[in-house]
Amino acid sequence: MVMFSISLFVGSDTRFVVQYIHMMRTADVSTTDLTQATEQLWKILAPAISYLSESDQEIIELAFYQMAEAHGEQRRKSGEFYIIHPVEACLTLADIKLDRDTLAATLMHDVPEDTEVSLRKLSKTFNREIIFLISGITKLSVIKYKGEDRYAENLRRMFVAMSKDLRVVFIKLADRLHNLRTLKNLPAEKAKRIALESLEIYAPIAERLGMGMFKDEIENICFPYVYPDEYKQLISLSTVEYQKREKQAGQIIKKTTKILDEEGIPYIALYGRAKKYYSLFKKMREKKSLDKIYDLVALRVITESVEDCYNVLAALHNYFIPVEGRVKDYIDQPKENGYQSIHSTLIDPTSKIVFEFQIRTEAMHEYAEYGVAAHWSHKQKAKFEEFTFLNPDRLKWIKELVDLGKEKLSEEEYLKYVKLDLFQDQIFVMTPKGDAISLPQGGTPLDFAYRIHQDIGRHATMAKVNGQPVKLSYELSNGDEVEIITDKKQKPNRDWLKIVKSVSTARAIRHDLRKQGIKV
Ligand code: MN
Repeated sequence: MVMFSISLFVGSDTRFVVQYIHMMRTADVSTTDLTQATEQLWKILAPAISYLSESDQEIIELAFYQMAEAHGEQRRKSGEFYIIHPVEACLTLADIKLDRDTLAATLMHDVPEDTEVSLRKLSKTFNREIIFLISGITKLSVIKYKGEDRYAENLRRMFVAMSKDLRVVFIKLADRLHNLRTLKNLPAEKAKRIALESLEIYAPIAERLGMGMFKDEIENICFPYVYPDEYKQLISLSTVEYQKREKQAGQIIKKTTKILDEEGIPYIALYGRAKKYYSLFKKMREKKSLDKIYDLVALRVITESVEDCYNVLAALHNYFIPVEGRVKDYIDQPKENGYQSIHSTLIDPTSKIVFEFQIRTEAMHEYAEYGVAAHWSHKQKAKFEEFTFLNPDRLKWIKELVDLGKEKLSEEEYLKYVKLDLFQDQIFVMTPKGDAISLPQGGTPLDFAYRIHQDIGRHATMAKVNGQPVKLSYELSNGDEVEIITDKKQKPNRDWLKIVKSVSTARAIRHDLRKQGIKV
């Protein structure tokens, strides 16, 4: 019943679509005969979608052959038939067992833009959902011009489509992932640009949606392209440390197995996971030294129930020494993106080894990997309604990005704000009534005031933080209690734009300034 496993790997996560990628590599789709390649591809795709009902599988088959016919002899930069690309993207999503319409749309996502077959023609065969999903991905091809303008426009369009149906972004991520996996076929300059854009836009989107698996793979692929020197440096710096920690993890796992067995606490899996290079890179930029990063190799316990998570924690705290202030209960207080788990840093009293434990249920683990996509997944083991990730509050940022797209901003400004908004880490501060309000890292009382109400924001003069008077530009910290002092005569001014950290607050202020006739 109890499964013991240790899987330690840095770099690409071998669990991810490994099976299909292997099949793609060994299958003879490199043939110059299109019919043969098409048949080979269908042979790979068909078993991957066997979790769908028979009638759903037929729709996928229809989409597949429609797509294959439309793209025909088209080839990718690598010389392969183009049809490999939509199939690989589709396999990525079939791997997390997404629904029929998403898969069908993924297969046909490049048809309207790159072939003679129009969206209108597809709509004669496929349902409205499928057509909507394709249209959300289809780039603006009316005016074909290169450069940032069109890119920003495509992004705008994607956020609008995403706000109506989140599945649009799953397709976009799978599409991007396959393009990233084949990045080496592009000229170095172009590869680097695409990698940077992926790190700046798509990885943060995946993270925001809790899709850890996608985020990790995007970052893993892009890191060496964007920061080649830092990448090499990090590897030479960390290799020995990783090896040391992996060995230690093995020791601690042995001990933990014994503890949990003796206590009779059931668990599904216990294993070590190595931190990915790009997250290590980001952590190191916070000027932490390697030996202070306790989760370089973290230990994971996967349980069946929430109750068992706490039982495991209690047992571990009995045998090991918990490091003060290093227990984080994300089950009780999920992260902004819905992530749930208990983290605790412990010291082994005999070996003095310090390490981080991550304790979560199987359902939480699935959520940490697939995020919001789990909602549409046939794989879903738990009732995800128990989780709060589809809570509209958590997805508000998408609407904010849609609103941002409606503003008259230069393309450059628009992209800057999108990146800013996506990148920001969140803090939580409290109202005097004890309600938690989330703000971007570095948020100020002015951000807080606007978040409570437009009118409070507009008339804010100063604030009290934990009872102490502070300026509106004061930098708030997690857990601060904030009270806003207002004065009806107060009006927003241009300097306020420099104070605020939230993109939506800045937008509200710009709006107010324009109403006063001030140019912004
Ligand atoms: Mn594509």
